[in-house]
Amino acid sequence: MTPQAIYSLFVLVVGMLVGSFLNVCIFRMPKDESVISPPSHCQNCDHQIRWYENIPLFSYLFLRGKCRGCGAHISLQYPLVEMINGILTLVLFLRFGFTPAFAAMFLFCSSLVVITFIDIEHQIIPDEISLSGIVVGFLLSFFLKEPGWLDSMLGILLGGGSLLLVAYGYQLLTGKEGMGGGDIKLLAMMGAFLGWKSVLFIIFASSLIGSIVGVSIMLLQKKDSKLAIPFGPYLASAALLYIFYGHQLIQWYFNLGMKKPV
Ligand SMILES: [Zn+2]
Repeated sequence: MTPQAIYSLFVLVVGMLVGSFLNVCIFRMPKDESVISPPSHCQNCDHQIRWYENIPLFSYLFLRGKCRGCGAHISLQYPLVEMINGILTLVLFLRFGFTPAFAAMFLFCSSLVVITFIDIEHQIIPDEISLSGIVVGFLLSFFLKEPGWLDSMLGILLGGGSLLLVAYGYQLLTGKEGMGGGDIKLLAMMGAFLGWKSVLFIIFASSLIGSIVGVSIMLLQKKDSKLAIPFGPYLASAALLYIFYGHQLIQWYFNLGMKKPV
Protein backbone atom coordinates (compact mmCIF):
# COMPACT_ATOMS: atom_id res chain seq x y z
CA MET A 1 0.00 0.00 0.00
CA THR A 2 1.20 3.50 -0.78
CA PRO A 3 1.40 6.04 2.09
CA GLN A 4 -1.52 7.91 0.53
CA ALA A 5 -3.68 4.77 0.62
CA ILE A 6 -2.74 4.11 4.26
CA TYR A 7 -3.55 7.73 5.23
CA SER A 8 -6.85 7.50 3.37
CA LEU A 9 -7.85 4.31 5.15
CA PHE A 10 -6.84 5.85 8.50
CA VAL A 11 -8.89 8.98 7.80
CA LEU A 12 -11.89 6.89 6.74
CA VAL A 13 -11.78 4.91 10.01
CA VAL A 14 -11.40 8.05 12.14
CA GLY A 15 -14.34 9.62 10.29
CA MET A 16 -16.48 6.59 11.06
CA LEU A 17 -15.46 6.53 14.72
CA VAL A 18 -16.41 10.19 15.00
CA GLY A 19 -19.64 9.29 13.20
CA SER A 20 -20.34 6.88 16.04
CA PHE A 21 -20.14 9.82 18.46
CA LEU A 22 -22.29 11.95 16.15
CA ASN A 23 -25.00 9.31 16.50
CA VAL A 24 -24.97 9.87 20.25
CA CYS A 25 -25.34 13.63 19.64
CA ILE A 26 -28.20 13.08 17.17
CA PHE A 27 -30.13 10.96 19.66
CA ARG A 28 -29.38 12.86 22.86
CA MET A 29 -29.18 16.57 21.95
CA PRO A 30 -32.90 16.96 21.09
CA LYS A 31 -33.68 15.44 24.49
CA ASP A 32 -31.23 17.79 26.23
CA GLU A 33 -29.26 14.83 27.53
CA SER A 34 -25.51 14.83 28.06
CA VAL A 35 -23.56 13.44 25.11
CA ILE A 36 -20.72 12.27 27.39
CA SER A 37 -22.37 10.27 30.16
CA PRO A 38 -23.88 7.76 30.70
CA PRO A 39 -22.02 5.43 28.29
CA SER A 40 -23.96 4.06 25.32
CA HIS A 41 -26.70 1.67 26.27
CA CYS A 42 -29.67 0.01 24.58
CA GLN A 43 -32.75 2.27 24.57
CA ASN A 44 -34.90 -0.77 25.20
CA CYS A 45 -33.22 -2.90 27.88
CA ASP A 46 -30.35 -0.68 29.16
CA HIS A 47 -27.84 -3.30 28.03
CA GLN A 48 -24.51 -1.44 28.11
CA ILE A 49 -22.81 -1.39 24.73
CA ARG A 50 -19.36 -3.00 24.92
CA TRP A 51 -16.50 -1.62 22.85
CA TYR A 52 -16.68 -4.56 20.43
CA GLU A 53 -20.39 -3.90 19.93
CA ASN A 54 -19.57 -0.32 19.08
CA ILE A 55 -17.21 -0.72 16.11
CA PRO A 56 -18.61 1.44 13.32
CA LEU A 57 -20.51 -0.45 10.66
CA PHE A 58 -18.98 -3.84 11.50
CA SER A 59 -20.79 -4.22 14.82
CA TYR A 60 -24.10 -3.46 13.15
CA LEU A 61 -23.46 -6.19 10.56
CA PHE A 62 -22.02 -8.58 13.16
CA LEU A 63 -25.02 -8.06 15.48
CA ARG A 64 -27.36 -8.24 12.45
CA GLY A 65 -28.95 -4.97 13.55
CA LYS A 66 -30.14 -6.32 16.90
CA CYS A 67 -29.30 -5.59 20.54
CA ARG A 68 -27.31 -8.43 22.17
CA GLY A 69 -29.23 -7.98 25.40
CA CYS A 70 -32.85 -8.04 24.27
CA GLY A 71 -32.83 -8.47 20.50
CA ALA A 72 -34.44 -5.07 19.93
CA HIS A 73 -33.97 -3.62 16.47
CA ILE A 74 -31.04 -1.16 16.20
CA SER A 75 -31.84 1.88 14.06
CA LEU A 76 -30.31 1.82 10.58
CA GLN A 77 -29.36 5.41 11.30
CA TYR A 78 -26.29 4.24 13.26
CA PRO A 79 -24.40 2.59 10.39
CA LEU A 80 -25.75 5.21 7.97
CA VAL A 81 -24.33 8.16 9.92
CA GLU A 82 -21.03 6.31 10.46
CA MET A 83 -20.71 5.63 6.75
CA ILE A 84 -21.68 9.15 5.67
CA ASN A 85 -19.23 10.74 8.08
CA GLY A 86 -16.45 8.32 7.10
CA ILE A 87 -16.86 9.06 3.40
CA LEU A 88 -17.19 12.81 4.01
CA THR A 89 -13.97 12.81 6.03
CA LEU A 90 -12.18 10.86 3.33
CA VAL A 91 -13.21 13.18 0.48
CA LEU A 92 -12.28 16.20 2.61
CA PHE A 93 -8.84 14.65 3.16
CA LEU A 94 -8.43 13.97 -0.56
CA ARG A 95 -9.38 17.59 -1.26
CA PHE A 96 -7.35 19.36 1.46
CA GLY A 97 -4.69 16.89 2.66
CA PHE A 98 -3.49 17.16 6.27
CA THR A 99 -3.90 20.95 6.56
CA PRO A 100 -5.58 23.33 9.04
CA ALA A 101 -8.33 23.74 6.43
CA PHE A 102 -8.97 20.00 6.59
CA ALA A 103 -9.33 20.13 10.38
CA ALA A 104 -11.75 23.08 10.17
CA MET A 105 -13.86 21.50 7.41
CA PHE A 106 -13.90 18.15 9.25
CA LEU A 107 -15.35 19.88 12.31
CA PHE A 108 -17.78 21.89 10.18
CA CYS A 109 -19.04 18.95 8.11
CA SER A 110 -19.44 16.68 11.15
CA SER A 111 -21.62 19.38 12.69
CA LEU A 112 -23.66 19.53 9.49
CA VAL A 113 -24.28 15.77 9.69
CA VAL A 114 -25.68 16.12 13.21
CA ILE A 115 -27.77 19.16 12.27
CA THR A 116 -29.20 17.47 9.17
CA PHE A 117 -30.34 14.34 10.98
CA ILE A 118 -31.79 16.25 13.95
CA ASP A 119 -33.56 18.76 11.68
CA ILE A 120 -35.14 16.04 9.54
CA GLU A 121 -36.49 14.22 12.57
CA HIS A 122 -37.35 17.07 14.97
CA GLN A 123 -37.48 20.22 12.79
CA ILE A 124 -35.03 21.97 15.10
CA ILE A 125 -31.41 23.01 14.82
CA PRO A 126 -29.73 22.92 18.24
CA ASP A 127 -28.33 26.28 19.33
CA GLU A 128 -25.48 24.40 21.03
CA ILE A 129 -24.16 23.58 17.58
CA SER A 130 -25.08 26.65 15.52
CA LEU A 131 -24.18 29.33 18.08
CA SER A 132 -20.95 27.67 19.22
CA GLY A 133 -20.25 27.01 15.53
CA ILE A 134 -20.38 30.75 14.83
CA VAL A 135 -17.79 31.39 17.57
CA VAL A 136 -15.54 28.45 16.66
CA GLY A 137 -15.69 29.23 12.93
CA PHE A 138 -14.68 32.83 13.58
CA LEU A 139 -11.81 31.85 15.90
CA LEU A 140 -10.52 29.26 13.40
CA SER A 141 -10.51 31.87 10.62
CA PHE A 142 -7.49 33.51 12.30
CA PHE A 143 -5.48 30.36 11.52
CA LEU A 144 -6.74 29.82 7.99
CA LYS A 145 -5.78 31.37 4.69
CA GLU A 146 -9.38 31.13 3.60
CA PRO A 147 -11.57 32.69 4.88
CA GLY A 148 -9.58 35.29 6.77
CA TRP A 149 -11.11 36.77 9.95
CA LEU A 150 -12.66 39.74 8.12
CA ASP A 151 -14.22 37.49 5.49
CA SER A 152 -15.50 35.25 8.28
CA MET A 153 -16.97 38.18 10.21
CA LEU A 154 -18.73 39.49 7.11
CA GLY A 155 -20.01 35.96 6.54
CA ILE A 156 -21.58 35.89 9.99
CA LEU A 157 -23.23 39.29 9.49
CA LEU A 158 -24.42 38.51 5.98
CA GLY A 159 -25.58 34.98 6.91
CA GLY A 160 -27.46 36.13 9.99
CA GLY A 161 -28.71 39.35 8.43
CA SER A 162 -29.85 38.26 4.98
CA LEU A 163 -31.97 35.35 6.14
CA LEU A 164 -33.42 37.50 8.89
CA LEU A 165 -34.47 39.93 6.16
CA VAL A 166 -35.95 37.14 4.02
CA ALA A 167 -37.80 35.72 7.02
CA TYR A 168 -39.11 39.16 7.95
CA GLY A 169 -40.21 39.88 4.37
CA TYR A 170 -41.94 36.53 4.09
CA GLN A 171 -43.79 37.13 7.32
CA LEU A 172 -44.75 40.63 6.21
CA LEU A 173 -46.13 39.36 2.89
CA THR A 174 -47.86 36.20 4.03
CA GLY A 175 -48.49 36.83 7.71
CA LYS A 176 -47.00 33.40 8.38
CA GLU A 177 -43.70 32.46 9.90
CA GLY A 178 -41.68 30.80 7.13
CA MET A 179 -38.05 30.51 7.98
CA GLY A 180 -37.12 29.33 11.44
CA GLY A 181 -34.63 31.13 13.65
CA GLY A 182 -32.54 27.94 13.58
CA ASP A 183 -31.91 28.33 9.85
CA ILE A 184 -30.72 31.89 10.35
CA LYS A 185 -28.20 30.87 13.01
CA LEU A 186 -27.08 27.97 10.83
CA LEU A 187 -26.43 30.26 7.85
CA ALA A 188 -24.47 32.62 10.12
CA MET A 189 -22.37 29.62 11.20
CA MET A 190 -21.77 28.72 7.56
CA GLY A 191 -20.67 32.29 6.89
CA ALA A 192 -18.24 32.03 9.81
CA PHE A 193 -16.60 28.86 8.44
CA LEU A 194 -16.76 29.60 4.71
CA GLY A 195 -16.75 33.41 4.33
CA TRP A 196 -19.28 35.89 3.01
CA LYS A 197 -19.23 34.79 -0.65
CA SER A 198 -20.41 31.35 0.40
CA VAL A 199 -23.53 32.86 1.96
CA LEU A 200 -24.82 34.18 -1.36
CA PHE A 201 -24.02 30.89 -3.04
CA ILE A 202 -25.67 28.85 -0.28
CA ILE A 203 -28.90 30.91 -0.32
CA PHE A 204 -29.15 30.50 -4.08
CA ALA A 205 -28.17 26.81 -4.25
CA SER A 206 -30.27 25.73 -1.25
CA SER A 207 -33.38 27.42 -2.66
CA LEU A 208 -32.77 25.68 -5.98
CA ILE A 209 -32.23 22.27 -4.37
CA GLY A 210 -35.21 22.87 -2.08
CA SER A 211 -37.50 23.73 -5.00
CA ILE A 212 -36.43 20.68 -6.99
CA VAL A 213 -36.93 18.34 -4.05
CA GLY A 214 -40.19 20.07 -3.05
CA VAL A 215 -41.69 19.83 -6.53
CA SER A 216 -40.58 16.20 -6.86
CA ILE A 217 -42.26 15.32 -3.57
CA MET A 218 -45.45 17.13 -4.62
CA LEU A 219 -45.49 15.25 -7.95
CA LEU A 220 -44.85 11.91 -6.23
CA GLN A 221 -47.60 12.50 -3.70
CA LYS A 222 -49.89 13.89 -6.39
CA LYS A 223 -51.29 16.60 -4.16
CA ASP A 224 -50.16 20.04 -3.16
CA SER A 225 -49.32 18.99 0.35
CA LYS A 226 -48.00 21.63 2.70
CA LEU A 227 -45.59 19.09 4.09
CA ALA A 228 -43.24 20.86 6.43
CA ILE A 229 -39.81 20.06 5.09
CA PRO A 230 -37.04 21.48 7.26
CA PHE A 231 -34.68 23.80 5.41
CA GLY A 232 -31.50 22.84 7.31
CA PRO A 233 -30.65 19.84 5.11
CA TYR A 234 -30.84 22.02 1.97
CA LEU A 235 -28.54 24.59 3.53
CA ALA A 236 -26.16 21.77 4.49
CA SER A 237 -26.18 20.28 0.98
CA ALA A 238 -25.50 23.70 -0.53
CA ALA A 239 -22.61 24.27 1.90
CA LEU A 240 -21.04 20.94 0.89
CA LEU A 241 -21.47 21.86 -2.76
CA TYR A 242 -19.69 25.14 -2.03
CA ILE A 243 -16.76 23.46 -0.25
CA PHE A 244 -16.03 21.14 -3.17
CA TYR A 245 -17.23 23.04 -6.24
CA GLY A 246 -17.98 26.59 -5.11
CA HIS A 247 -15.05 28.26 -6.83
CA GLN A 248 -15.65 26.45 -10.13
CA LEU A 249 -19.41 27.08 -10.05
CA ILE A 250 -19.02 30.80 -9.30
CA GLN A 251 -16.38 31.11 -12.03
CA TRP A 252 -18.59 29.25 -14.49
CA TYR A 253 -21.52 31.50 -13.65
CA PHE A 254 -19.55 34.69 -14.19
CA ASN A 255 -18.05 33.35 -17.43
CA LEU A 256 -21.58 32.87 -18.75
CA GLY A 257 -22.23 36.56 -18.11
CA MET A 258 -18.95 37.60 -19.72
CA LYS A 259 -19.58 35.81 -23.00
CA LYS A 260 -20.22 38.38 -25.70
CA PRO A 261 -23.11 37.77 -28.06
CA VAL A 262 -21.83 36.98 -31.53
ZN1 LIG B 1 -31.52 -4.14 24.37
